[in-house]
Amino acid sequence: MEQTSRPRILIVYTGGTIGMIEDPATHTLRPFNFNHLIDNVPKVKMLDYDIDHIQFNPPIDSSNINPTHWQQIASAIGKEYDRYDGFVVLHGTDTMAYTASALSFMLENLRKPVIITGSQLPIGEVRTDGEENLITALQIAAATDPVNGEPMVQEVAILFENYLWRGNRSTKMSADNFNAFKSNNYPSLAKIGLSIQFNHDALWRVNQRLPLRVHKGMSTDVIVVYTYPGMTETSLRQQLATPGAKGVVLKTYGAGNATTDEWFNRAISEAVERGMVIVNVTQCVNGGVKRKYFTGDCLARAGVISGHDLTTEAALTKLMFLFGMGCTPKQVANRMLHPIVGEMSI
Ligand code: ASP
Repeated sequence: MEQTSRPRILIVYTGGTIGMIEDPATHTLRPFNFNHLIDNVPKVKMLDYDIDHIQFNPPIDSSNINPTHWQQIASAIGKEYDRYDGFVVLHGTDTMAYTASALSFMLENLRKPVIITGSQLPIGEVRTDGEENLITALQIAAATDPVNGEPMVQEVAILFENYLWRGNRSTKMSADNFNAFKSNNYPSLAKIGLSIQFNHDALWRVNQRLPLRVHKGMSTDVIVVYTYPGMTETSLRQQLATPGAKGVVLKTYGAGNATTDEWFNRAISEAVERGMVIVNVTQCVNGGVKRKYFTGDCLARAGVISGHDLTTEAALTKLMFLFGMGCTPKQVANRMLHPIVGEMSI
């Protein structure tokens, strides 16, 4: 690539509604190629950036995302890291928060922006939110700190409509609203209005300048277990006996509570004794696990680890990452207690 002072941005197009068109036979939306997408955003040319792209072939609905796709995205960013100032990942909204969380762990020592965006309406629709999201994501990926010239954003973040959120704190909150994402336990990184106003205190910064390390191993030996009134011992035991499962995200009530029925605690303690790492996260969208009630205390005494205010997406992908690195259950349990890249508040 020719040397220029213009921002150099790489778009990684994975699919999602943003680039979809209607299939005339089924009248359902299907992902389409990058040229269709970019042809619908002529304003991109008004940004004086050098933009290249790579795309998933074929682009996918993000409901089909799995860790292999995360490896592809992380590898692409790792390969092109030195050639670009920032990266924009175009992705479906359904699993965007999982991908953002996964990438935040996989891209160790990241010091450049990886901005993930998509849209609720396809880019070809008159009222699309895709055009604005794409343009703003590109601007954020190109933004530098006027004081030191360094990238303004040095982490994986989700840009959607009026906000920029930390990726591993985000959750998809709405299947309809243009403001579809939120990080319920962490402030926004930027507010998008007439201008882009960064929340400097919230932005991630690392002290050490170490080279980027891309971790590709993501273990799929992790499950999510949702507690609910009426759950049976058979159902719980079957889930905990999932062949190969090493880690569990246990989604509990309120501040980390679950039934104190003896069968429940026995099944959980036995799983912990077998070496399973069980992490307690709340089903609530806001707040986290606190050892406040007897019901939650029983879980802690059974060896369940507090996930504090982790989102399910971050808890799941953090477990996948730690087991994928080859950590022992004891090491995983220990590392789950501490934040790696700002995913939880302690
Ligand atoms: N099903 C779509 C996807 O996640 C939804 C979207 O992009 O908004 O790919």
